Amino acid sequence: MALKTGKEYLKSIAELDLQAHIMGQKVGDLPRHGLVAPSQEAVAFTFDGAHDPEAGSMFRALSPLCNDEVNRFTHLHQSAEDLVKKVMMQRYCGTKTACCFQRCVGLDAANAIFSTTFECDAKHGTSYHQRFKDYWRWVQQGDLVVDGAMTDPKGDRGKRPQDQADPDLFLRVKERRDNGVVISGAKLHQTGMLNSHEILVMPTLTMRPGEEAWAICAAVPTNQPGVRYIYGRQASDTRKLETHRLDVGNPVYGGQEVMTVFEDVFVPYERVFMDGEVDFSGALVERFASYHRQSYGGCKVGVGDALIGATALIAQMNGVAGASHIRDKIVEMIHLNETIYSCGIACSALGERMPAGNFQVNLLLANVCKLNVTRFPYELARLATDIAGGLLGTMPSAADLNDPVAGPYIKKYLAAAPGVEVVDRVKVLRLIENLVAGAGAVGYLIESMHGAGPPTAQRIMIARQANLEGKMAQVKSLLDIA
Ligand SMILES: Cc1cc2nc3c(=O)[nH]c(=O)nc-3n(C[C@H](O)[C@H](O)[C@H](O)COP(=O)(O)OP(=O)(O)OC[C@H]3O[C@@H](n4cnc5c(N)ncnc54)[C@H](O)[C@@H]3O)c2cc1C
Ligand code: SF4
Repeated sequence: MALKTGKEYLKSIAELDLQAHIMGQKVGDLPRHGLVAPSQEAVAFTFDGAHDPEAGSMFRALSPLCNDEVNRFTHLHQSAEDLVKKVMMQRYCGTKTACCFQRCVGLDAANAIFSTTFECDAKHGTSYHQRFKDYWRWVQQGDLVVDGAMTDPKGDRGKRPQDQADPDLFLRVKERRDNGVVISGAKLHQTGMLNSHEILVMPTLTMRPGEEAWAICAAVPTNQPGVRYIYGRQASDTRKLETHRLDVGNPVYGGQEVMTVFEDVFVPYERVFMDGEVDFSGALVERFASYHRQSYGGCKVGVGDALIGATALIAQMNGVAGASHIRDKIVEMIHLNETIYSCGIACSALGERMPAGNFQVNLLLANVCKLNVTRFPYELARLATDIAGGLLGTMPSAADLNDPVAGPYIKKYLAAAPGVEVVDRVKVLRLIENLVAGAGAVGYLIESMHGAGPPTAQRIMIARQANLEGKMAQVKSLLDIA
């Protein structure tokens, strides 16, 4: 089976001919759109990785589902080592692209659905697991990109799905037919949606009896009629549309988030993997979230590597690299970044085999990992801003740098350490700006807070997994307390 190259992937996505609303216009030919192209390049990187002579082995895995080598971004983890390799691969991709490369959400959804459907079938006599295996074999063989769609709009957060003013505020089964279901609703913030071939929708929270219509998990092709896309804005995104690439910050890659509306979309039963089994909705949410919390222990660390590298470079260019407080702050950045990585590796190394046969991360450590991610990148960004200096927020444009009148002034007054080209200093500052306050901050900061659930969700999981009763019993036993 041929593993796609980045170029082949880009061709396959262009062939889907998806359309989206972008800044007030209905846009086709998405690969040519300035806001979309960098995000597609980032996904393409995950394909080229599998063909890289040095990194390739990290990206390839042997799948028992199709008895062949697959791209690890579609792999069902067969061991704790697989989980560790996943995190290493994600760090590698983050370091090289300095952005969200989007392909992990579908991978995390697949592993969660694989184990949940197995257990659901055992209890309810359903046949979701075999359906999912058939579906996922097809995904692996086609080396496809799958969007993991969990987050519903949720309306009034204080109300359950059936109590909302509009039942579509949680994606639901609206109509049932002999051969399938019709779904209606939306998924917000969808990472890489328009760069995906397929969508896996999942319930957004643990559903209760009476909420069966909202306990739906199913696969939908991205070019299915009735699915509509509205492109999300990122800070300073229109810089990507300007002629001068220098001001973009990340000249090649970028992320993508899309509001996705499902307007009476038909799904045949072969593509339905949960349909009303509310007692398994919680497990699916928890497992998907935990895999994705592990993922951040790789990707955000990689982007952190890029931020640390850029910060060390700007310190050199500004002539302050030798100052002890600067060295100390950079060490602090490394310490925070490697602490996140340690959690990503640890929750993987302590992963366990599920009854379905695939491996799941250690839930406690995956949640500790993500809780650190809600804080540490913000501290890294603070330290980078400190070291970079105020120019980070006030630098003149690339157009002015090239202007015959303004340019010479900029070159004269932005000169710093001897031998440093002003244009190189500008490049480094723009990358830092991109990550701490520009388009890249959506992936590096806002997503670190909310992606895979906000901090409270991790605290709840940590409290549940920590075995506090056991710890108290140990102390009682030590102190001989009855
Ligand atoms: C860049 C980015 C990419 C993302 N990518 C994806 C993706 O690919 N797929 C996907 O499915 N999702 C994705 N998400 C969505 C992400 O999982 C959600 O943003 C997250 O779960 C928080 O949900 P919310 O945004 O609706 O915020 P809310 O749920 O509104 O949370 C906001 C605050 O309100 C609190 N809160 C919420 N409900 C209650 C309540 N009932 N009682 C008390 N407090 C409450 C929360 O703890 C939090 O502090 C992405 C998000 C971002 C920012
Ligand atoms: S946020 Fe990280 S883990 Fe999630 S899709 Fe982007 S790169 Fe992958």
